[in-house]
Amino acid sequence: MRYISTRGAAPTLAFDEVLLAGLARDGGLYVPETWPTFTPDEIRAMRGLPYAELAVRVMAPFLGGRVTEAEFAGLVRDAYAGFDHAAVTPLVQLDQSTWVMELFHGPTLAFKDVALQLLGRLFDHVLAKKAEHVTIVGATSGDTGSAAIEACRDREAVDIFILHPKGRTSEVQRRQMTTVLSDNVHNIALEGSFDDCQDLVKAMFNDTSFRDEQNLSAVNSINWARIMAQIVYYFAAAIELGAPDRQVSFAVPTGNFGNVYAAYGARAMGLPIQRLVVGTNSNDILARFFATGTMQTQAVMPTISPSMDIQISSNFERLLFDLYDRDGPALNQCMGRFRSGGSFAVTPAQLERARLVFNGHKVDEELTRATMAETRRLAGGLLIDPHTAVGLAAARAEQPHIDPAVPLVALACAHPAKFPDAVERATGVRPPLPPRLADLYEREERVTVLPNDLRAVQAFVRSRARRTAAGQRSA
Ligand SMILES: *Cc1c(COP(=O)(O)O)cnc(C)c1O
Repeated sequence: MRYISTRGAAPTLAFDEVLLAGLARDGGLYVPETWPTFTPDEIRAMRGLPYAELAVRVMAPFLGGRVTEAEFAGLVRDAYAGFDHAAVTPLVQLDQSTWVMELFHGPTLAFKDVALQLLGRLFDHVLAKKAEHVTIVGATSGDTGSAAIEACRDREAVDIFILHPKGRTSEVQRRQMTTVLSDNVHNIALEGSFDDCQDLVKAMFNDTSFRDEQNLSAVNSINWARIMAQIVYYFAAAIELGAPDRQVSFAVPTGNFGNVYAAYGARAMGLPIQRLVVGTNSNDILARFFATGTMQTQAVMPTISPSMDIQISSNFERLLFDLYDRDGPALNQCMGRFRSGGSFAVTPAQLERARLVFNGHKVDEELTRATMAETRRLAGGLLIDPHTAVGLAAARAEQPHIDPAVPLVALACAHPAKFPDAVERATGVRPPLPPRLADLYEREERVTVLPNDLRAVQAFVRSRARRTAAGQRSA
């Protein structure tokens, strides 16, 4: 199994290389050269497997022998042992044809844990074999940072530095990051905005001597291994609902298009997925694309589902690559137009192909709140978070147009207690933190406040990172 870049001008890589590379050198994203496939009999044989065993079966073809199956099985078991539900990603039935898949039983209460808990372990494993060390730097407006920190804490080969804008994250979000006291975890509260944090991270990557000296790396949403790990729960849900002998559809709340692209990958691997319903909040660039074939950015609007307040969905390029029949140079031109003019359009034939599988719906703030309230009323008091509500409302909008005999699974991407204010305002009920985080407000915090200054941040990284790329101590 080799991986190729969507822009067609970067070297092909093996799994361990693609894991560490992130973005391709030509600016593209890595995808498998061909999708591995499972026959209906092979999918049938996955019935009843515990999640970790299913995960090994589904992901093994992507490893290309670069991690042995026995070692991989150990990492997978360890990654999912920390989830507080035996099924890892359990289904909850709402009515005759609608289910919710709960993806929030990991350490930070959001679906990003499903991929990142494995990714942190894979990084450590692959780096240890190479006797290398990386310094991960990232910026967060709240959610991604805690999932990355939990994934990397106590990993030998990794130091992680996460910048958040001082005083501008919620208290739950801040404490989920700053109460991790591991030696290799470094929280920076920046005196600036989220954009300032992102700019500094970019500047650190653009400083080549600093990047090489620290062996900088990232665990952002374009990392191939995150997509790979997310494919697994689509198999888990579809098989539980009757696949390969019954079709299943999914509704996915979407920001960077990573999660729903994983569903597309599962379909390419032979899972009988009928429809993929993309839910967007008021930042509806993807819903507009699936309606018109034109991708056109607008200003980002803050909403109560902040993890989807995005106008450029980085993983969408992976789908576009297929719509362009995997023609890297053609896609490169298209992305160039998007970068310079803020828009591009696909042909009617390309749009038609996308719409065979995908449809999109915009869910505004009012409908998001109404969906939280209605779900609580109709589903026996079930509380859902605003991101989940966006996906479920999109499912409801699609349902009159699709076969009611095909189960529709809406993805619950965050625990309601991560967004207590929005949930309380919509439903009148304040969701309590689950037991694993019940004492979050009593825990000790550790965080370093730094000015919005590249030199100061770089000096801090240098003084705390344990080793350089060469394996020597840097301080
Ligand atoms: C990151 C995130 C999303 C968006 O997922 P993408 O893979 O970027 O589409 C949706 N909901 C929650 C709670 C998230 O944390």
